[in-house]
Amino acid sequence: MTKKLVILGAGISGIGAAILGQHKGMDVFVSDYGSIAPKFIDILNKHQIRFEQKTHTQSEILEAELVVKSPGIPDKVPIVKALKAKGIPVISEVEFAARYTQAPIIAITGSNGKTTTTSLIYHLLKKSGINAALVGNIGFSFAEKVVEDTADVYVLEISSFQLDNTVDFHPHIAIITNITPDHLDRYNYDFQQYVQSKFQITKNQAPNNHLIYCGDDSVIKQHLDTHQVQAQTHAFSLKKNNNSSIYLSDQRIEIHNEWQIDVNLFPLQGRHNCYNAMAAVMAAKLMEVSQEAVETALSSFSSLEHRLEPVATINEVDFINDSKATNVDAVWYALDAMTKPCIWIVGGVDKGNEYEAIMELVQQKVKAIICLGVDNTKLHQTFQHLQKPMKNARSAKESVEIAKQWATPGDAVLLSPACASFDLFNNYIDRGNQFKKAVEALLPKEIT
Ligand code: ADP
Repeated sequence: MTKKLVILGAGISGIGAAILGQHKGMDVFVSDYGSIAPKFIDILNKHQIRFEQKTHTQSEILEAELVVKSPGIPDKVPIVKALKAKGIPVISEVEFAARYTQAPIIAITGSNGKTTTTSLIYHLLKKSGINAALVGNIGFSFAEKVVEDTADVYVLEISSFQLDNTVDFHPHIAIITNITPDHLDRYNYDFQQYVQSKFQITKNQAPNNHLIYCGDDSVIKQHLDTHQVQAQTHAFSLKKNNNSSIYLSDQRIEIHNEWQIDVNLFPLQGRHNCYNAMAAVMAAKLMEVSQEAVETALSSFSSLEHRLEPVATINEVDFINDSKATNVDAVWYALDAMTKPCIWIVGGVDKGNEYEAIMELVQQKVKAIICLGVDNTKLHQTFQHLQKPMKNARSAKESVEIAKQWATPGDAVLLSPACASFDLFNNYIDRGNQFKKAVEALLPKEIT
């Protein structure tokens, strides 16, 4: 009998899972409580996959033998509770896809640096001639790629929400870039729940698998001190010490007595990118890429949009778009990387931020603060004692105009919001694009 598969949520991952399910001969039904984007409706129609939108028909959904849930849907919604009460397995798209491929998976998670590290690993593998596929949170459905399953290795960005619904998922190489508070609204404001969720990446790994992690991250280290993992572990660190497998020494990325790579080959700035580079280099070495190939590929990697992205220099003022910095830790690294007095644009939807960790950096590096959000009360309360100029803006354009008035030659204007964007923008991409557009609008008038 055909297995009945229900997909909850028709986003990129849900659509991919539906296509894979149908390809495997299942009876697929897609249900989305919101409206489904027209381009996805076209795909569902093309594949003749049944779907509904703006509702969840319980009777139909509760007949499923297996449910693939979109990472955006929390466990506490009634339909998921009803499924669980009935004992129907609810898994993530990653779990579903991984069941249909034998190819090794390199899975990258962490609070920050996932996309950068994932893209870099993919770049290192591709440039060295390995037939790799780039999938996951980064924007390409893993499940859809598994329909053809022609890749020799999958490089998979995975969020904690996707890890939450894994059962047997066991990547050959798992990477945890770092763990700092984020998304606590989805974890009952309990940081340990979030940490547990990240560590699910290694829970099914075997002794011939690998776990690469940040050895300078006290949260990761504490967890590893108290929990056993099966995989071989490899720590990366900015300092050479007995516990690190790969580390920075005299501007070189080193792997004990084996590899030495000039860190300046890597074009991305900032300490955080050095971490990302070390994680990626370690993964490439484990995949048997040569040092020469890694060096060549490292030097040709270009920076990603919305991540410390230089937009323009106008009247000797640098405008930098770090819209993807949606938590405090990412802002810490952005401010740490700043070498010029900084006009900082911050704000949006606060996910339970604690700003204490960046207070000193703000004091040192920031000359003025522009709050870009609907409700900026917390920002004012937190930073007003620093006695820096502070102003509110209701749009990216307004924030850029204020920044332009305040900036003097030699300054940097940094959009690094520490918050989600949904109060004023569609998402962080929209926020970054509107910022860039506003900056670019200054160009013709300002440059002679
Ligand atoms: P993610 O996919 O985990 O959100 P990104 O690579 O998209 O990570 O980067 C998100 C934000 O975090 C950007 O502002 C970026 O500059 C910053 N960032 C990148 N790597 C790191 C890191 N290793 N540690 C802290 N912040 C980082």
